[in-house]
Amino acid sequence: MNKRNIVPEPSGAPQGADVQPPEQPLALVGAQFVIGAAGRSQLPPPGPPEIAFAGRSNAGKSSAINALATRTRLAFTSRTPGRTQQINLFQLRSGGLAADLPGYGYAAVARDVKREWQDFLWEYLTTRDTLVGLVLVADARHGLKPLDFTVLDVFVPSARPVLVLATKSDKLNQSEQRGAVVGIRAQLAARYPAQAHAIAVVGFSATRRIGVMAADRVLCDWLGITARK
Ligand code: GDP
Repeated sequence: MNKRNIVPEPSGAPQGADVQPPEQPLALVGAQFVIGAAGRSQLPPPGPPEIAFAGRSNAGKSSAINALATRTRLAFTSRTPGRTQQINLFQLRSGGLAADLPGYGYAAVARDVKREWQDFLWEYLTTRDTLVGLVLVADARHGLKPLDFTVLDVFVPSARPVLVLATKSDKLNQSEQRGAVVGIRAQLAARYPAQAHAIAVVGFSATRRIGVMAADRVLCDWLGITARK
């Protein structure tokens, strides 16, 4: 277990003490695994608002989900990328759903398997009407890659909002972190000049908890969560 991912318990300050506990995220906290859907028929019927997480294998998607949920192992890091090509769905306290989409771009996956899950991913992104927003996880050091644009090209024209998490920002110094976010914004503005306003980019680190609250605010907005303690 990675100890750095463990979120500290709220401090034991006595009630009424003038010490505010650090702000905690809301959208994914308390999420419960519902089902791993390997095909359209296994998806829960559309109903509550749903948010989805996508990204290249190893971009840090599972770690980002865990950081937002303040859990260590809500989303599992796959030891054999490309094996479990399913959409993992989580029930959120707000009543909404979160979908962890299969990571893409893992080179060692057989071509027909890749095609199969790309078809499922494409179908999900284009037909899931209750999907209110897409979180795209990309390594801050590498920016958006062609496969990321393949996913975005499918989703962005629907005019639904996108949040790009520029992950592993802790591996960059502060000016590099800013540069990474600016660079990703420029990539998006060049590709989607008409929709750029609907795409937020947040520098993120699961290990150092950079950008967790900024990302959570976006997710709460999408899910209609207003109550913040
Ligand atoms: P996924 O395949 O996109 O779900 O990626 P994972 O969340 O499993 O992360 C892939 C690797 O990157 C693992 O070794 C993680 O420990 C590491 N990682 C993920 N997020 C961060 C981060 O914010 N900072 C650093 N330094 N490493 C990270």
